[in-house]
Amino acid sequence: MQTIQIKDKTFTVSLKEADILKQVKRVAAEINRDYAGESPVFLAVLNGSFIFAADLMREVTLPSEITFVKLASYAGVSSTGAVKDLIGLNVDLKGRSVIIIEDIIDSGLTMVHLLDLFKQYEPKSVDICALLVKPDNLKVSLDIRYTCLEIPNDFIVGYGLDYDGFGRNTRDIYTVVE
Ligand code: 5GP
Ligand code: MG
Repeated sequence: MQTIQIKDKTFTVSLKEADILKQVKRVAAEINRDYAGESPVFLAVLNGSFIFAADLMREVTLPSEITFVKLASYAGVSSTGAVKDLIGLNVDLKGRSVIIIEDIIDSGLTMVHLLDLFKQYEPKSVDICALLVKPDNLKVSLDIRYTCLEIPNDFIVGYGLDYDGFGRNTRDIYTVVE
């Protein structure tokens, strides 16, 4: 299916599942190499990262934990920059190597806020692992250690990402047709 309809919008396929998974495997291999001998804790940011996190974790061969947190900041198709607090953190991060799993970094404001919230937990280190980055829309300077794919500044859905709650369950990623 090359084109899908979600509510009032039409989306066309832009990243095929096989190409996404190839990049997920590449990033997992980099993490396995960089964190050899360590036991990181993965922190997946819900909801959008749930499928990415599942695919990534199954390629990670390190002794590792995963926990899911929520930090909602998005409504409709444009980033608001407004952020809420972190919920669901149930692992003590003190002295731990943390890898944040994010679906997409757009303006980067959510990630900056998240990094700020983490300081109080005194982790040993924090690295960012993003499925998608929109480099042209970044409004802050962020050190994104792991990026699967860089994409243009268009709204996308699929592979975990939604439009107004729908579209998370497609294997490919779709871009909105203006
Ligand atoms: P930022 O704070 O970096 O601007 O936005 C980050 C969040 O906005 C992401 O975690 C995601 O929830 C949402 N977001 C940004 N761009 C898109 C997009 O193209 N599609 C979807 N579905 N969500 C997006
Ligand atoms: Mg997100």
